[in-house]
Amino acid sequence: FFFSPAEFVKSATDFSMIPENTMIPEVAFVGRSNIGKSSLINGLVNRNGLVKTSSKPGHTRMMNFFKLGDKLSLVDMPGYGWRSRDEWGGMIISYLQNRKNLRRIYILVDPSHGLKESDTQIMKLLDSSGLSYQVVLTKMDRLSKTKYSTAKAEIEAELVKGAICCFPLVLGVSSKTKDGLDELRAAIVKAGQL
Ligand code: GDP
Repeated sequence: FFFSPAEFVKSATDFSMIPENTMIPEVAFVGRSNIGKSSLINGLVNRNGLVKTSSKPGHTRMMNFFKLGDKLSLVDMPGYGWRSRDEWGGMIISYLQNRKNLRRIYILVDPSHGLKESDTQIMKLLDSSGLSYQVVLTKMDRLSKTKYSTAKAEIEAELVKGAICCFPLVLGVSSKTKDGLDELRAAIVKAGQL
């Protein structure tokens, strides 16, 4: 499967450091700090340590670009809340509005906590820019099947109410048990039309 090997390309702390636009389809991952984003990207590409995980919330302070051969580019965005929201927004808005090869943004949400204001804010931003996004529920292993289904249904009901450019399928993953990773890989392949 071409999800491995993955290579680190570059880190960027502001818009000027972002790698040039290429024709390679790109997908980006966003979410609140500590949502399980680093673990998920490592799990997706089967390479522990590609994205540095940290127990310290908000440790990842930059956008990290990775590529899987010349087929796909993955972007690890800074967790929301590591700086003021406005500052986070500045770099991200410039990136989102200028990235021609960006095919989808994956918004990671903890099903135990549900959608937070920071999640709905980024969704509004993506809706207003016409950018396709999809919600991925992380750390599925922490909830019983019943609790997970209830949490997912509540989140889906909220999305139906307000989200415009949201892909109408909420995925669930566990980086710990690897559940859902294949479905997410398949969704990414489709989003990138690879
Ligand atoms: P990030 O800040 O969003 O990059 O989050 P990390 O990937 O560093 O994960 C934050 C914390 O959640 C760490 O303690 C991880 O071990 C834990 N974690 C991440 N993914 C999972 C998961 O699928 N299941 C469980 N139980 N814990 C997870």
